[in-house]
Amino acid sequence: MAPTIGRSDSFPRVNGTHVHDVAIVGAGFGGLGMAIRMKQAGMDDFVLIERGDDVGGTWWANSYPGCQCDIPSNLYSFSFAPNPNWDRAYPMRDQILEYLRDCAERFGILPHTRLNSELLEATWVADEQRWELETASGPLAARVLVAAPGLLSEPSSPALPGLERFQGNAFHTAEWDHSDDLTGKRVALLGSGATAVQVVPEIQPRVAKLHLFQRTPPWVVPHTDHPVTRGMRELYRRVPPLQTLSRGVVYTLRESVAVGITRDRRWLKAAELNARLHLRRQVPDPELRGKLTPNYEIFCKRIILSSKWYPAIQEPNVDIVSSGVEEVRKHSVVDGDGVEREIDTLIFATGFKPAELPIAERIRGREGSSLAEVWNGSPEAYLGTTVAGFPNLLFLYGPNLNLGHSSIVYMLESQIAYAMDALRTLQLRGAAEFDVRAEAQAAYNEELQERLSRTVWNTGGCGSWYFDRNGRNSIQWPGFTFEFRRRTRRFDAAAYRLAPPTPVPATTAASAAS
Ligand SMILES: Cc1cc2nc3c(=O)[nH]c(=O)nc-3n(C[C@H](O)[C@H](O)[C@H](O)COP(=O)(O)OP(=O)(O)OC[C@H]3O[C@@H](n4cnc5c(N)ncnc54)[C@H](O)[C@@H]3O)c2cc1C
Repeated sequence: MAPTIGRSDSFPRVNGTHVHDVAIVGAGFGGLGMAIRMKQAGMDDFVLIERGDDVGGTWWANSYPGCQCDIPSNLYSFSFAPNPNWDRAYPMRDQILEYLRDCAERFGILPHTRLNSELLEATWVADEQRWELETASGPLAARVLVAAPGLLSEPSSPALPGLERFQGNAFHTAEWDHSDDLTGKRVALLGSGATAVQVVPEIQPRVAKLHLFQRTPPWVVPHTDHPVTRGMRELYRRVPPLQTLSRGVVYTLRESVAVGITRDRRWLKAAELNARLHLRRQVPDPELRGKLTPNYEIFCKRIILSSKWYPAIQEPNVDIVSSGVEEVRKHSVVDGDGVEREIDTLIFATGFKPAELPIAERIRGREGSSLAEVWNGSPEAYLGTTVAGFPNLLFLYGPNLNLGHSSIVYMLESQIAYAMDALRTLQLRGAAEFDVRAEAQAAYNEELQERLSRTVWNTGGCGSWYFDRNGRNSIQWPGFTFEFRRRTRRFDAAAYRLAPPTPVPATTAASAAS
């Protein structure tokens, strides 16, 4: 029998709309993981809305050539759904998407899922203790709103002067235009992060010319990816604890990196040496090597894994431009030194807008203000999950939960456990509402910011997308992932104001019953 939250069984309809226990927004690892855990707990009254036309989130949206996860497959998956079929040590996009589609089907999530249903507005209706949602596929209502919109889901492209005049093809890597196969084309690609490093070796052999606009070179270490043999996959299938063991080893090795990032830089020296040797081995020309040596500390920005990047960018058809784009013209780009380059296609590998998510403008809390208005450019939450003044809202992959060293899926599973415990707490206490205390949220964020101020992200001499428009690091988690798991193991009700169901107005109850 499906447990219900608060008073939904006694008051199942408001103005003719069914009030779901939970509405989940986003069908990536976060939203799907939450849905699966609800299903496993017998909590069936939920709806999952997704603006795209498939599940998969990041791994559905990003279909650019070479798209690959930089966390090993055995760790980058749900703990409750190990996958013995990974055919590479680091999974490619297609296989992660297949895995997520399979999870959605296997755990019975598809009947709860509404695709092409962008959340347009979510408003907390205080009198009725519920969220009212406007979506692209119609209105919805729910007691609890789980927002899992992803952190890296809103592509960011620079507003280049003259871009509107450009008559060639221009697109972002997260919206890859597969109709343009780039063969024999003159291409300009902007960006030097993980995506650029994955795309360039894939397209370089087929383009006529590749102008690579990169202002700051990344730290790159050799990739240790390799195929998982059929024998190994069979072994994982027959002896599942072996895969669990591999997951444990990968997890432990990854956590050791957090020591260097957040506590003691000496732990990062080995990685830096590895990167320098890699550069020396793959780039014989000292002048080019100088150009490709980063001028900031390793791990200040996300470290890049690639054995194909340096060879690709030394090919004769690649030209590295470090002076930036000054202007775009009808058929060309002009760099910061005034040099004009004729191009057919312009590709933005320029990342995302993690601190300016549109969904934050669409969620309105107790006072009628949106999350974006309350945050004013600097997102913050309690445990990256709940926000004072936004009752019954659980935000997955929320502020300060991104990592520089391990799997986001692990963080999401920690949050999901916390969210599940929040739902159970409502039931057990007969409460209809939780709202984190502002002082608990403030103390938590003060602690985070103090710890962040000592990390390599804040002091390593680089600018990065970890900093919001106010110059605050609103993105990164400054510790071990097991610390976050410990802190989210239980819904700590003491940090919250729990409210009982408010009496149902007689007139509404009568119309609901009829
Ligand atoms: C190119 C790339 C590479 C990455 N590599 C790694 C990696 O190596 N390791 C790692 O740990 N992480 C990596 N990440 C981060 C990755 O996003 C997370 O690991 C994980 O996939 C996040 O899952 P999610 O469900 O929170 O978000 P997402 O996967 O982004 O899913 C969010 C979903 O919400 C939907 N949505 C958003 N707004 C709305 C709305 N208003 N209405 C309805 N639906 C909405 C989106 O369409 C999307 O489907 C990478 C991200 C990118 C973009």
